[in-house]
Amino acid sequence: MYVKSLTLKGFKSFASATHLRLEPGITCIVGPNGSGKSNVVDALAWVMGEQGAKSLRGGKMEDVIFAGTAGRAPLGRAEVALTIDNTDGALPIDYTEVTIARTMFRNGGSDYSINGTPCRLLDIQELLSDSGIGREMHVIVGQGQLDTVLRATPEERRGFIEEAAGVLKHRKRKERALRKLDAMEANLTRVQDLTGEIR
Ligand code: ATP
Repeated sequence: MYVKSLTLKGFKSFASATHLRLEPGITCIVGPNGSGKSNVVDALAWVMGEQGAKSLRGGKMEDVIFAGTAGRAPLGRAEVALTIDNTDGALPIDYTEVTIARTMFRNGGSDYSINGTPCRLLDIQELLSDSGIGREMHVIVGQGQLDTVLRATPEERRGFIEEAAGVLKHRKRKERALRKLDAMEANLTRVQDLTGEIR
């Protein structure tokens, strides 16, 4: 499994559609300061479901949309598509090539798709979580992030280890199940109240 390509359109400084084709092995992106190297890495995190504007070095999520320059008007939406080579079947899906896409409009909300089929953020998170990639997998180490890891509390460190060990997916499922149980409990109490009133 490896990242085959990344396409950005209207994402941060990439106003025009930009297609980056990658090969297996190491890829280096070089360029002058402010030319958009980190924006490429932000696009990777964003398409994999990043929800925190701060992690993307912005104040609000809308900041990922091209804000315009002296010679070019702002755009109304940002689009990123990530294509992963899955010939080794590392991703639990019956395709040898998987394209994950995310689109966001200025009025908020994101649309996601897997191989062109609209899906939920949860579907993308679950697809990626067993493979060791994904926005919460610490595969993207940003500038200054090593300091954060070194200064982490024991609880935070446990979180990193749990994520690396693949426990995260199950922890999230457990949390969802517990929330459903709570809602069910509340419904049951309500039904008991109503039954009591009817008697
Ligand atoms: P350095 O080498 O200094 O770390 P870099 O190559 O990593 O720089 P980036 O941080 O990726 O550069 O890009 C910064 C540039 O992206 C800035 O010029 C900034 O104005 C531009 N930029 C960021 N967000 C947007 C946006 N929403 N619209 C337009 N341009 C943006």
